[in-house]
Order: sequence, then C-alpha cells, then structure tokens
Amino acid sequence: MSFDLVLFGGTGDLAWRKLMPALFQAFRHGSLPASGRIIGVARDDLSDEQYRALIRARFDEVDLSKRPAPGEFERFAEMLHFLRMDLSKPGDYQRLAATLRERNADTVVMYLATAPSLFTVACEQLAAAGLNTANTRIVLEKPLGHDLASNRAINETVRSVLSEKQIFRIDHYLGKPSVQNLFALRFGNSLFEPLWRRETIANIQITIAEDLGVEKRGAFYDSTGALRDMVQNHALQLLCALAMEPPINAHADAIRDEKLKVLRSLRAWTPEALAQHAIRGQYTAGKVGGEAVPAYRDEPGVNPESHTETFVALRAEIANWRWAGVPFFIRTGKRLANRDAHIVVNFRPAPHAIFRSPLGAANRLVIHLQPKDGLELHLLAQGQENRASKSAQQTLAPVHLDLDFDKRFGSERVGAYERLLLDVIDGRLNLFVRSDEQEEAWRWVEPIIDYWRNDSAGPRPYAAGTWGPSAASAMIARDGYCWSEEC
Ligand code: NAP
Repeated sequence: MSFDLVLFGGTGDLAWRKLMPALFQAFRHGSLPASGRIIGVARDDLSDEQYRALIRARFDEVDLSKRPAPGEFERFAEMLHFLRMDLSKPGDYQRLAATLRERNADTVVMYLATAPSLFTVACEQLAAAGLNTANTRIVLEKPLGHDLASNRAINETVRSVLSEKQIFRIDHYLGKPSVQNLFALRFGNSLFEPLWRRETIANIQITIAEDLGVEKRGAFYDSTGALRDMVQNHALQLLCALAMEPPINAHADAIRDEKLKVLRSLRAWTPEALAQHAIRGQYTAGKVGGEAVPAYRDEPGVNPESHTETFVALRAEIANWRWAGVPFFIRTGKRLANRDAHIVVNFRPAPHAIFRSPLGAANRLVIHLQPKDGLELHLLAQGQENRASKSAQQTLAPVHLDLDFDKRFGSERVGAYERLLLDVIDGRLNLFVRSDEQEEAWRWVEPIIDYWRNDSAGPRPYAAGTWGPSAASAMIARDGYCWSEEC
C-alpha cells in the first residue's frame, strides 16, 4: 500500500517533538509502509534536503532511545519531503494537488498540526482543489475549538467536505498503551466486570499531574487553561473508558456509541455543584524537584493578572444504573509535585470486619498511565503475627500485586502517537473521537467555563511543587475520601 502523509505545520513543535519521532519509531519497527512519503508543509522556503537537515537536528533533542543510530536517519529521510505553502492562500493548494498527483497514492493523510484557526480554511481549500477524494483522511489535533459553538463550527466544515469515517480527531491519551490496557482489562477479562459497578466501587479518581509549567507555550496556555487543555478531552475520555458499558464488538462505532452514552449520562451542573465540585487553582512560585520555579503569572507570554486555571479538580457523577451515587473525582494540573498520571478505583470495604485493617490502604486497583505503565491491585493479607497483642482481632497488612507492563512487554510497546499514526494510515478509527462525543464533552464543561468567567474570585493559589490548592482535598473529604497520596 502506498501513502502520502501531508504534515501541515511540518516545522512546528508538535511535528518535531512528537510526530517525527513517532513516525521514525514506526519506520524502525518496520510498520511504516516503505513506499510512503511524508510531506512537511509550512510557510518557510526549504528544500527537501534542508527540511531533512532540520528534522535531523531536532532528533538531538528527543529521548535517547528514540534517536536514530548512524545511517538510520538517512534511510528514514528518503521518505521526507517539504512543500512551502501558506494555508490561508487558496492558490497554494494547487501546488499541493500537483505534488500529490505525482504519486496518486492509495491513501492520502492530511495531518493538521497547525493552529485550529486554520482548520476551516484548510478544509474548504482542500475541497476547492479537489483534494477531498475517497482515499483522503484528515487528522485534527486538539484543541478542536474553544467551546461548543466553535467546536461545532469546525466539525460542520470538516463534515461538509469529508465523511465522518475520513475524519480522525486525535486524543493521544487514547493511543497510550495503558489506556488500551484499560480496555483489555475490562473487556478481555471476566474477573472485574461483576465488580465494576456501584455495589462494589466506592469512588474512582483520575489524576493527570504534570510537574512542568507552561514552558514556551505561555500565550497559548493562557487563553486555554487546564479545563479546556486536559479535562474536556483527555480526562473525560479516560472517564468514558472506565465507565462505559461493554461494547457489542470492537468496531469503532460500537466503542464510540458506548462512550457517548457515558458523556450523556454525566449529571448536569447545578449552581450548588459548581460552587462545591469545580475547583480551580493557579500556581505561585515554588520548588519542583528541588529547583525554584516562577509563578504562572511570571511565565513568558502569560498575562501578569491572568485568571487562567493551571489546576482543576472536579467531582462528577454518572446518572445511570451502574454508577448512580459513585463519585468520579478528576484532577489535573501543572507544576504539581510529580509527573504522574494514574487512575485509582477504590472498592468498598468488606461489609463486616473480622480483622483489623489499616485504613484506606487496600481494596483498590491502581492503573498507572505515566510515567509508569502498569496495574497494581492492592489487597490485605496476613502479615507477621503479633503474639504480644492481646486482641482477638488479627491485624492485616497491605500487599499489592504489581503488573509492570513496561517490564513485561518492554521493547514491543508502541508509543501513543506511533499507534495513532499507523491507525490513520490503516484507516482504523477505534482510538479516535467522534464529533458527537466531542460536542457532548463540551456541553458538560461549558457551564464550568461560564461559572468561572463570572466568578471574580479567580483561581485559588497553590505553590508550585505541591498537589494543588487545599480546596481540592476539602472537596473530596466532604464525601469521606482522600486523594491517593493523602490516604
Ligand atoms: P507551532 O510550533 O507554533 O507550529 C505551527 C506550525 O504551523 C509551524 O510549522 C508553522 O510554520 C505552521 N504554520 C503556521 N501558520 C501557517 C500557515 N498560514 N500556513 C502554513 N503553515 C503554517 O505549534 P505546535 O505547538 O506545533 O502546535 C500545532 C497545533 O497542535 C496547535 O493547534 C496545538 O494546539 C496542537 N498541539 C500541540 C502540542 C504540542 O505539544 N506542541 C500538543 C497537542 C496539540 P510557519 O510559521 O513557518 O508557516
């Protein structure tokens, strides 16, 4: 099979930091069809050779394991080409059409790794140049809009020129091996399914913590914030994977139908719930990993009086038979104590205690997403007997079963962007988000955006290097629970 992958934004940060290393890994693993072309597009005037040299130089900045060995890049680089093009200029699309006609590849992937403000014009002009053929697929990067209305506008434009099965909306969390393992855990094993419900699960916590600040993307982040950047997409997709009903088969729409039902079942916000269950924070100066770091408002590109949230903690509920009454706690933030994304499923305690057991230590399943990828099942076991104790009750000790997928599958693992790029080339939509899912997610977060817009108190401060504002702990404590690192 031949393919052309047109990488709009081919010189940008996303292209060289994530997409090129992922394509290179796919090439290294022998999974990228060799007859393909990768055509970087941007407004710079570069020859193919100059573009290859630019990408080669950028590889010095990626993880050591992802850098090419001598000679390896040169073989990969034969696939790399460059086309100068301004996406806002209709005339430039004819040059793209001519480049694609040279090959007439079986599959043409248009990857829009550019600002979303260019999505609409790009789609319209691709169609005007006749480039929306049946073998075209388009990949849209987040953020797909700023709110429900802008998301709808983009989706309507894209759908007016391509069919839904040609549209690949990326949420790279869905490509993470750990998230696929969550699907495998739930739907490939029968062990957990009978327990996966309100009768046995007390609460579920989703944490996506970053220790980094906004880096060089201060201006972008200041107009986005943690709710739009992380919750509307990644956190809600994780919630869907946790809460969805078993799909009838593994086809994309069967999976997406079930995720959509979860989003539709999210309990609607009330003014009381917004006041108590939607916490926002913003980091002040502090220390991360022993190093002093500046406050968010002192980061380059950030408004010194910004009210943008760098931390969000939410309490969600899913109003259906399986989950009624079970709180789902979501928290994400920048400049937190660690880079750590994980899910904790807390099971209810044994209904009748014949043993003494340490509080909160067991009865939980921890799904590690990053940096570690694995599962831990925390249980209670009989440890050393304490003969000195006069108590008739034995005290149990926490133990855990640790499934480390990195150790077990090591080099066989495929990274998120690599998996997703290969899926686009192969036309597999399972790990991509359908427009109705996105719209439903926006519908749920919009009341929070509106509430915060009208709340002059602004985000609560938290020192960089901590776990966010104390209000997040108070929120979860009202249900009688605590975040995993506090229990
Ligand atoms: P970036 O570093 O600013 O790169 C933007 C790219 O688009 C550059 O190659 C730029 O090259 C090109 N471009 C800009 N205007 C253009 C035009 N009129 N015609 C043709 N090319 C044009 O941005 P980025 O960080 O890579 O992000 C790209 C998109 O991905 C954004 O929507 C971002 O939110 C999203 N995203 C980024 C990341 C990340 O880690 N960076 C992660 C997830 C999502 P020229 O200026 O030379 O034309």
